[in-house]
Amino acid sequence: MDEQRQPEPKKRVVVCGGGVIGVCTAYFLAKKGAAVILVEQTSIACAASGKAGGFLALDWCDGGPVASLARASYNLHRSLSEELNGPESYGYRPLNTLTLTITESQSSSPSRSRLLGDCTIPAWVDGPAHQPRTIGSTQTTAQVHPQLFTRTLLNAAVEKYGVEVVIGKLQYVRVEEGRVGSVVLEGRRVIECDSVVLALGPWSGKFEMLASLFRVYGIKVHSIVLEPKEPGAITPHALFLSYHPQGGKAIDPDVFPRPTGTFDWEVYICGMYTEEEVPDDPELIVGNPESIQMLKRVARNVSSHLADGEAQVKAEQACFLPYTDDNVPVIGELPGVKGCYVATGHSYWGILNGPATGVAVAELVLDGRATIVELTRFSPARFVGRRKVEV
Ligand SMILES: Cc1cc2nc3c(=O)[nH]c(=O)nc-3n(C[C@H](O)[C@H](O)[C@H](O)COP(=O)(O)OP(=O)(O)OC[C@H]3O[C@@H](n4cnc5c(N)ncnc54)[C@H](O)[C@@H]3O)c2cc1C
Repeated sequence: MDEQRQPEPKKRVVVCGGGVIGVCTAYFLAKKGAAVILVEQTSIACAASGKAGGFLALDWCDGGPVASLARASYNLHRSLSEELNGPESYGYRPLNTLTLTITESQSSSPSRSRLLGDCTIPAWVDGPAHQPRTIGSTQTTAQVHPQLFTRTLLNAAVEKYGVEVVIGKLQYVRVEEGRVGSVVLEGRRVIECDSVVLALGPWSGKFEMLASLFRVYGIKVHSIVLEPKEPGAITPHALFLSYHPQGGKAIDPDVFPRPTGTFDWEVYICGMYTEEEVPDDPELIVGNPESIQMLKRVARNVSSHLADGEAQVKAEQACFLPYTDDNVPVIGELPGVKGCYVATGHSYWGILNGPATGVAVAELVLDGRATIVELTRFSPARFVGRRKVEV
């Protein structure tokens, strides 16, 4: 009798970090056939991935190191949206994008749309706005609600592809003879695995195994979320501002009106950067009051629809962008530790670049090489010799 061939056992992969990078990686690994456990210390999308703007651009990274990652990812966002009913489940939509200058000392404008040069300022932008320029169209710019996107993708990963979620803090990766054997969580829970992916965002800089090889640091950015009384008045335009406060230095806040589901809308405004130590617990990140006040000042000078009394404040918050020393993400296998991969350092473009990062890491872990983008530029090996890996 012919011997029956046993199916190959699934590769066991633990993905650590429940931000957009970890969730995208878990989704594409499981879709490709791995048995995936996602470990998150607090809650899914509790940090930058839940508090970001969610703006996406096809070609804004062209000419830089993440150009191909961004283009591949922009297209993946479109196909994921078709697969997961993005417009309804997480507010995916293409939109137009403008830059504007707002000068507090100048007078406001009537609430009707105004054609300045070849660019129309939408009617709801009735503050002292000038120098408008179109910098993105519905062909090249889009948006998602980042927390809803991350959570929707994880739900699909759990329901369709069997990803298991564990709430727990990764303490260390156990390495035997140069190869990953298991991960150990706080409280001594051990999870055996063939590979591990570390997607710890700005906390990568606090995780010794990574910190001994390269630096990841956090830049704190503030944001407010407003619910206008008349959401129908706000058109789908993302605004990148050059804002000149009376008697202060110019700042560059962003304003993103965005849907939060089928019928609800909000306006997200972010800006006000500071370099600060990342707290151990994401729940302890709060906005500095003066930065939050400044964003409220921006809101009422952009639009009377966003002034006190006209819009309810849904959130005042802050989160950390994960930066590397060369401002290029780190994606790849750690030198000298077989089966241990890292994906972090996506700075301002992590929501955009999450999907292509997830596909690339899934290919690397399961096939030994990524085809969606060339990963050499992102390899952690570029830091070898600058700091020493200790495991
Ligand atoms: C104000 C602001 C606006 C932004 N706007 C945009 C935008 O419009 N478009 C865009 O593309 N990008 C945007 N970004 C950037 C984007 O948010 C980030 O690049 C992205 O969220 C980073 O994702 P991440 O998964 O690497 O990190 P995070 O979202 O920080 O997730 C890391 C996760 O790892 C977990 N973790 C850490 N240590 C451990 C441990 N030891 N064990 C278990 N879990 C652990 C944390 O709890 C956290 O949930 C914005 C960022 C900010 C701050």
